[in-house]
Amino acid sequence: MPTRYQGEDALLCAFHDVTSHIEGAAMLEQARRSAAAASEAKTLFLATMSHEIRTPLYGVLGTLELLGLTRLDARQREHLQTIQRSSSTLFQLISDVLDISKIESGQMAIESQAFCPLQMIEDTLHAYSVFAENKGLLLYACVDATLPDQLLGDPVRIRQILNNLLSNAIKFTDTGRVVLRVRVLECVDGQASLEWQVTDSGIGISPAQQERLFDTFYQVRDASSEAGAGLGLAICRWLTEMMNGQMRVVSEPGLGSSFSLRLGLKVMPGSLEGCADILPTTQAVYVRAPAVELTQSTCDWLNRLGVVAKPLPAFVEESRQASLLVDVLPSDSLPAWAGPESCASAASPLRPSHRKVAPWMCMMCGPLPGPSPDPARKTIAPAAPECDLSSRLGLHILVAEDNAINQAIIKEQLEALGCRVTAASMAKKPCSSGSRRCSTWC
Ligand code: ADP
Repeated sequence: MPTRYQGEDALLCAFHDVTSHIEGAAMLEQARRSAAAASEAKTLFLATMSHEIRTPLYGVLGTLELLGLTRLDARQREHLQTIQRSSSTLFQLISDVLDISKIESGQMAIESQAFCPLQMIEDTLHAYSVFAENKGLLLYACVDATLPDQLLGDPVRIRQILNNLLSNAIKFTDTGRVVLRVRVLECVDGQASLEWQVTDSGIGISPAQQERLFDTFYQVRDASSEAGAGLGLAICRWLTEMMNGQMRVVSEPGLGSSFSLRLGLKVMPGSLEGCADILPTTQAVYVRAPAVELTQSTCDWLNRLGVVAKPLPAFVEESRQASLLVDVLPSDSLPAWAGPESCASAASPLRPSHRKVAPWMCMMCGPLPGPSPDPARKTIAPAAPECDLSSRLGLHILVAEDNAINQAIIKEQLEALGCRVTAASMAKKPCSSGSRRCSTWC
């Protein structure tokens, strides 16, 4: 800056040493990079470990299931069930940790594919019917009959959320019912807004606890009993956000809880899966169910499929007593029906607990025997084998599994279901990244 100094023109210059400032900024940047690298390494470690631990756990769960099919005395069976429950909890925990690390590392991608929402709801109930029945709970779904045939979305992730909500609902309910309701809130210009709601008559959650419910590792009750690690709902929240949806909870201690998931999905062309065999009727059929809304929902679906259906009235005229009765979740305490009957049962008609036998039996939601190693499914306490499965399937199945122990177990499990098995020989491909594992985990 020009100035005057001792009567002469001069330039005033100021020097400021910024070395420490630049060094400080460089150190900060270096620290930021190291923190990011450490976080990435932690995520990679967690993802690799949880993947590696799951492989032998499949072996443990599969072998326990096979052991359960052998002759065991009551004490041995009790011990076996304890190990199965603990292994299932461990499996769930590891799957949750794997999901969290995938989400944190940005590796959890939301897929977009056409799927049949009705089929997905049915499959979801399949997985939980035995668990609910073993606890003496009524489990059913009331699905809006205006549900589109096909939608575009990620059925695996939607199902993962529903699995978690249903698993919790059954876990924290000792008496009463768990209901899955599916509503079409809006359907305009090929875009549907849907709400899946899981309601239970369980212990409920206080308002203070509800505020932290979706935080990672948050558990309402102490983790000693049936609780997991408090990751399930946090994963649900993340997945919901990734699908641009919303999740809400309404609960009252002592009365029960209701969790709902709202998503906007595109409607796709296509038809309902698994309904092709239903023939339209002109003669009305009656519907009986343990809840008014279930009766109404069944009538609505039958009407949609071309079957004239109405709720069974308290008094039926003699001329109508030969009509077909669709008995949903039948119970032995209900009055017998003189005419033809079709029963939609929550459990498999093969289960000996199912006493009522009708000329037409259909499984409203059938059980999967034992624990399932499906990572997208919340694993729950396995049921003891209750029927001879060997005559049920007659399929020839190709098994592609690179772990020798798991391959042998899958083969034996399928053979126990009456299948013929061919095991594919898996050539080990070197990983292009040079590491022992490639960077995607399934
Ligand atoms: P976890 O993976 O341990 O099951 P979640 O994140 O799924 O954990 O659930 C967190 C906590 O919220 C549970 O420990 C439980 O105390 C409570 N909770 C979740 N769902 C319900 C429900 N339907 N009824 C009562 N409590 C529930």
